[in-house]
This record gives sequence, structure tokens and C-alpha cells, in this order.
Amino acid sequence: MKTSLERIRNDIEQLAKFTSTPGNGLTRMSFSLEDKGAREYIKKQMKSAGLYVYEDAIGNVVGRLEGEVDGPVVMVGSHFDSVKNGGNFDGQAGVVTALEIARVLNENSIKPKYPIEFIGIIEEEGGRFGSGLFASRAMIGQVSRNDLDIYKDENGISIAEAMEDFGFDPSKIHEGIRKPGDIKAFLELHIEQGPILESKGMDIGIVEYIVGLTEIEYIVKGRPDHAGTTPMDMRTDALDIAVSVISKISDFAKEAGSGTVATVGVLNILPGAANIVPGEVKFMVDIRSKDEKCIEEVKSKIEESLLESCKINGTEFTSTEKLYAPPVKLSDNLINKVIKYSDKIELKRELMLSGAGHDAMVMAKITDVGLIFVPSKGGRSHCPEEWTDYEDLQKGIEVALETIIDISKND
Ligand SMILES: [Zn+2]
Repeated sequence: MKTSLERIRNDIEQLAKFTSTPGNGLTRMSFSLEDKGAREYIKKQMKSAGLYVYEDAIGNVVGRLEGEVDGPVVMVGSHFDSVKNGGNFDGQAGVVTALEIARVLNENSIKPKYPIEFIGIIEEEGGRFGSGLFASRAMIGQVSRNDLDIYKDENGISIAEAMEDFGFDPSKIHEGIRKPGDIKAFLELHIEQGPILESKGMDIGIVEYIVGLTEIEYIVKGRPDHAGTTPMDMRTDALDIAVSVISKISDFAKEAGSGTVATVGVLNILPGAANIVPGEVKFMVDIRSKDEKCIEEVKSKIEESLLESCKINGTEFTSTEKLYAPPVKLSDNLINKVIKYSDKIELKRELMLSGAGHDAMVMAKITDVGLIFVPSKGGRSHCPEEWTDYEDLQKGIEVALETIIDISKND
């Protein structure tokens, strides 16, 4: 191993100190005191690894290693913000990956052909302003100056105000945009946040697709009536109708295949009293798959089934798509390189899907993207119990290191 387990452990432990909820997980909102502490730590590590350190117009921390040519940059990193009471590895693992790669390149005086930028990204979780994947969207030009006034934290402070507080000029947000061609490749290492790698005894996950997802709200109309005086055959019970369909959704997802998942996580019954027949039921379905056709299949089966059930009961339903993001296929070139370097050090590897969104998904709109997963203990994430063994993290970093050397050296 060229990387240092000790340094990796130290980075994770030092970064863990910048939390507003000590003893109860990592809470680090963007442009907060904790952000400032972590930012200073990351900058210090980058400087001592010989990088030229700057903050871009969005607020990301960047350490740059010049290449032989002034060509497109190879970028490696992840986010350093967290959810409330989250863990010490979500995002941080990828930032530490960037720091450790920079140190190894520096120690070994490795000079890349293409410049490398090591990046700590802000506001991926959207924990403070409710604007998830903020910085990567800003990097590809999807955030306007106006948006910075719209998104506010729970105290009414806008992103623009928070940026100013940190010495950034919101009117210059566009200066942080990276155009297609500016970035040769983007590599992110992230914890899996699920149970697959651990349960299969795998060392590393190589993500082929970040799943597409849709969130649909269904409202089924019934008729509110007295629960005691209305005979069973004279009711239009909205919950009865909804449940007859909801109970089939898991099967619809399994039938669709390709790892498709579907979840009903919201169910509201109106008027919501024990002695009233449900007059209206609202439920939300979250469907995810690597294949848009599978998402469509589950969606149309739900709608056909609802239509049939409503018809029998002489009522109707509405559906509203609240969110849609298409699946993202990651770069075959990067997937093959990650496979090659995993095999070189004999890691047990798994090609997999990412069921969660990542900055990598946004960056894929402008460049080749690779995403490496390392195992999460018990599949836990977004909680204080979140854990990845340092040895497992190091294995992922070794592969990321070789991959970065390769893509920064070759055309
Ligand atoms: Zn994350």
C-alpha cells in the first residue's frame, strides 16, 4: 500500500471534531462555524501536500496540482457538509481520499500530464438550505444568482447572505461554472450507505449506474360517511381502494426487475378520524431503477390498478409527478480502470447501482464520471452509527489513487 492508514484515520477523526452536535453524530451545515473549521483543516492538509489552494466562487475548497499541459483538469473529491446528526464518513470519506492521494503524489514527486484538482464540495445534502447537490449544480451552471435569494435556512438566512458572511460574492456565482471540456474526468469515492458490500463480503463497489427516480403523489377520492351507520356495501372507502393497490406495488417492482425498487413512504387519510369512513387518501410512491422503462412499467401498473379499483367503486384518483431524475450511466472508461486497479491488488469487487443521488450524478452531465463505493457497517448511514473500517476505506483509496494517476497521465 502506498497510502497511509494512520493519516486516513487521523483525517476522519480530525474532521469529526467539526460538528455542532458533539457526542451525537456529525452535524455540519454549509457556511457554518463547523464548515469553517473543516474548511481550514482541509486547506491546511492541501497546502502541506504542496497544492495551490483556492476557494471557487461557489464556496468549494480546491487544491490544484499543475500538470505538464494546461489542459482539462482531472478532479477528485466529495462533499464535506453533512445531514443533521449524521455520520463521520458520508462525504468525508471522499474528501479524505482526495487529501491522501494528494499527499502520496507529493511524497513520490509524481508530476501528472493533466492538472489535478482535489475538491471539498459544500451543500450536497441540502441540510441547511434545502437545496441538495447545490455546489455541483452550480458548477454546471444550474444555479442562478436569483436562486441564492430563494433558498433560506430555518432562521431565514439565504444562501446569498451566508455566502457573503463567508466572504464570497453571490453575484460572482457564475465564475464557479465548469464548462464541458474543462474537466477531463471526475472521480468520487463514497460510502455505500447500504448493506450490499458487507453482506456479500466485498471490498469495493464499482458503480455502473446511479438510478433514476420518480416521486408520484396519488390522491384517491372516497366519500366520508359515518363509520357506524353506513353498511359495508354502501361505502366508498378511499383507504380500501388505495390499499388494494399499495399492497401490489412491491410485486410490481420485483416484476420489473433490473434492481427496481418502489416505496410508499407517505400515507395520509382524511379526514383522519376513527369514526369516519376515509373520504380521501393521499400516498406517495418513490420508484427507482437503472432503467427508465422499468420505472415506467411500475408507474403504469399502479395507474391501471388504481383506475380499475376506482371504476369498480365509482370514484376517481389524481396523480402528480413531484420529482423526476433520469438514470445516469457512469463512464465505461473509468469503470474499466477501477476494475483494473481493484484486480491488481486482488480486491473483491462488485459492480453495482447507486440508489442514492451524489454530486457525481450531476458532474456526469459535463464529464466522464467514476464512483467507487466502500462498505458501510450494517448498511447504516445518515446516523451517528455510520461506520466504515479504516482498512476498507484505505483499499478504496488505493484504487482511487491508481485510477487518478492513470487518467492524469494518459490521454
Ligand atoms: Zn454523501
